[in-house]
Amino acid sequence: MKVRYVRYSVLVIILALVLYLAFGYGTRSFEAYCPFGGAESLWGLFTTGEFTCALSPLNLSMLLALLVLALVSKKAFCGWACPIGFFGELLGRAGCAVTGRRLHPSQRLNGALKLLRYIVLVLFLVLTYKTGELVLRGYDPYYLIFSGVGHGTAGVVSYIVLVGLGIGALIVPMFFCRYFCPMGAVFDPFSRLGLIKITRDGEKCTECGNCQTACPHSIPVQSFSRVRHRDCTNCFECVDACPEGDVLTVRASI
Ligand code: SF4
Ligand code: SF4
Repeated sequence: MKVRYVRYSVLVIILALVLYLAFGYGTRSFEAYCPFGGAESLWGLFTTGEFTCALSPLNLSMLLALLVLALVSKKAFCGWACPIGFFGELLGRAGCAVTGRRLHPSQRLNGALKLLRYIVLVLFLVLTYKTGELVLRGYDPYYLIFSGVGHGTAGVVSYIVLVGLGIGALIVPMFFCRYFCPMGAVFDPFSRLGLIKITRDGEKCTECGNCQTACPHSIPVQSFSRVRHRDCTNCFECVDACPEGDVLTVRASI
């Protein structure tokens, strides 16, 4: 059975839980489970000892737990739990179904555009620390979708952002995750060290490239003996796509 079915089942369950919270049925807001809220709260905690705006210790706990997870299994959170990653992947598949092909930007362009997520990270942390407000709310697809472009968003600009990210995801899979997600930028150094990773048997590999084509992040798996790449979410799409039975395996290695 393809690992994707298991992964999508996990993602659907998590999406249902977030929707449950978003419709006001839980005791906490869906925002309380956002790990980036942990990063946004740090300055306020250091300077005033208080959490910024609607943030709470749960956001900080989520951040710390997911950084530990990244050290164990890279960006598994992004591929196995994040609703925005799930939407990005589904939209990428829908775009591919319409056009008949997946657009993979060149490695050079892809690498250059990824710098944007560091700019987003620094910009929104500085703005949050300076204003004491959760400025990212107006541009964050997680908040925009699950709040229904609600309180604290940026009006028509928020709708433009949401539509732009949706169109981008139809063209390039994981458009927001690749180029704009500030949480992805926080994970990057931890993910590079992640213990569990895809390993490739170079002797048996035919270098057909199916693995890279299937990878939502266009990682050139066929170029590595171990996939240490910072963007790998351990989604195992490459393993499912490899026509040679035991070339790609999942191992704990440094
Ligand atoms: S899909 Fe398998 S055989 Fe083909 S390049 Fe990737 S690892 Fe090698
Ligand atoms: S390299 Fe394989 S496991 Fe990693 S993100 Fe790409 S498809 Fe998923």
